[in-house]
Amino acid sequence: MISKPSFIVVGCGYAGAVMARQIAEQLNKDVLIIDKRGHIAGNMYDYTNSYGIPVHKYGPHISVMDQDKTYHYLSRFTEWIPYRHRVNAVICGKEVPLPINFTSIDLLFPKKADSLKKSLIRSYGENANIPIMTLKKNTDPDIRELSDFIFENVFLHYTEKMWGLTPEEIDPGVTARIPIRLSYNDDHFLHKYQVMPKDGFTKLFENLLDHPNITVQLSTNSLDLLSLSEDKQNVIYNGAVFKGTVVYTGALDEFFNYTFGELPYRSLEFEFEDHKKDYIQNTPVLNWPDTRRATRRTEMKRLVQKSIPDHTTTITEYPGAYSRSGEHFNQPLYPIANDACFELHQRYKKLADRIDNFYYLGRLADYKYYNMEATILRALSFFEEHFAG
Ligand SMILES: Cc1cc2nc3c(=O)[nH]c(=O)nc-3n(C[C@H](O)[C@H](O)[C@H](O)COP(=O)(O)OP(=O)(O)OC[C@H]3O[C@@H](n4cnc5c(N)ncnc54)[C@H](O)[C@@H]3O)c2cc1C
Repeated sequence: MISKPSFIVVGCGYAGAVMARQIAEQLNKDVLIIDKRGHIAGNMYDYTNSYGIPVHKYGPHISVMDQDKTYHYLSRFTEWIPYRHRVNAVICGKEVPLPINFTSIDLLFPKKADSLKKSLIRSYGENANIPIMTLKKNTDPDIRELSDFIFENVFLHYTEKMWGLTPEEIDPGVTARIPIRLSYNDDHFLHKYQVMPKDGFTKLFENLLDHPNITVQLSTNSLDLLSLSEDKQNVIYNGAVFKGTVVYTGALDEFFNYTFGELPYRSLEFEFEDHKKDYIQNTPVLNWPDTRRATRRTEMKRLVQKSIPDHTTTITEYPGAYSRSGEHFNQPLYPIANDACFELHQRYKKLADRIDNFYYLGRLADYKYYNMEATILRALSFFEEHFAG
């Protein structure tokens, strides 16, 4: 361990690892990066199971990017394999593409499909992507019937079990992530780059962190290493005021010992199963937007495009409220997007802003759902704004 690092970065996910790399490479400063988990890569962590199948420990992760900057940055640390993500959902006993598209409408409404598709195109134009909350406002009786059906069978139960809230109670941006698509395109994502790292995410992170200025320390909670001075304006490290810089990507409520109470999250339980079959489902992900407890099942072989005979591994996700000391649901995964939570987060931010040389970012510290690209872009621009030049 470095006794007097210039920078301490807390968290080895994308936010922390990209920051550590930038500091090490651009500033030529030494960085100690720590994580409370026993592995690098944060929620992107993957491993290979005994059948040779790569498994994403914290649920399926797909590299989707729109900006050349992100793609080129990551391409320094991995080669890619092209990937097109497909998701089917089981709706009223039928397996149809998700997002709902013209194929889904053909399968769900064989008799009325043609007139429904014409009415939709008349209202919104071909190839449009319509959020369900927008479709629900349409007054055409046929579209009304369709939107009521989709709302009930795709969004209502799914949102209730995933978020513990109704679609009306959550930020409209959440339901808008799965629009109704007025075409036969069954790509789940429409991003410019849709790829998987050739040797997996953990290997990508090993390369990202492979720099002589970076020291990685795992299985270490920052709270065991860092504390606050009595006036709460300095970080104490090794018994003295830390003169370097802390970049923190953990949760602020934890750092401040839950002074104002806990920030709530939704969490997931992951059930990993091995099946003695070549394949178990038609698409990498199968969604269940109905009342059963699970939300979806991912077949890892389809996701990483490995052909291994006779065995396949799946991950089934069960959502629930995060409980930090609970036996289940003890990973803080999805911040809750509502005003009360944002206000509580603001109070913690004010405490953090008073500490000298303490910077924070990432999905936990910012208390914000970021996809991978948003996390990386946030880290790159954060570095430019605060540390470069
Ligand atoms: C189920 C699921 C599926 C997803 N799928 C996709 C996808 O397909 N594509 C996509 O682009 N994005 C996806 N995401 C989002 C993606 O996981 C995040 O954008 C990304 O992981 C955020 O990186 P981060 O560094 O902010 O957080 P994390 O990856 O969570 O890293 C934070 C790290 O900080 C560590 N830490 C926290 N507190 C402390 C502490 N006190 N001391 C020491 N260490 C600490 C944690 O152990 C963790 O390793 C998904 C998210 C979830 C939950």
